[in-house]
Amino acid sequence: MSSIFTKIINKEIPSYKIAEDNNFYAFLDINPLAKGHTLVVPKTEIDYIFDINDDLLSDMMIFAKKVAKAIKQEIPCNRVGVLVIGDEVPHAHIHLIPFNNVKEMSILSPKLKLTTQEFKEIAEKISKQVKL
Ligand code: AMP
Repeated sequence: MSSIFTKIINKEIPSYKIAEDNNFYAFLDINPLAKGHTLVVPKTEIDYIFDINDDLLSDMMIFAKKVAKAIKQEIPCNRVGVLVIGDEVPHAHIHLIPFNNVKEMSILSPKLKLTTQEFKEIAEKISKQVKL
């Protein structure tokens, strides 16, 4: 069975898209730790990030870098932090989380409740800044 992220990539279920190329898809996390919390996912469904081959893993980080720069341009923050967990969804992904205080990087922190309109506005403004 396809992962929930494969279904998102294939547009079978909706997402707040940030960017996409031939190999990767970036979209807003639906339970964000901060406004602009984004997930970067390879289009090939691989469970564990360190099972990704070297070339694709390098390209994934470069793709994530471009998305992180766009997040930094639009979301006031000190840095965009990077988390890899993979406890919930068995499809490798990188969390990009804009933060001011390191506490905001804890996956155990309370999640924000955003409206559909807020998600749409955040996705629109970040996606406009992505230069692939
Ligand atoms: P983890 O696998 O532990 O890195 O966590 C998976 C992340 O995927 C969590 O932060 C979820 O909020 C997020 N997530 C799960 N389903 C969706 C979805 N349909 N759209 C956006 N984000 C999702």
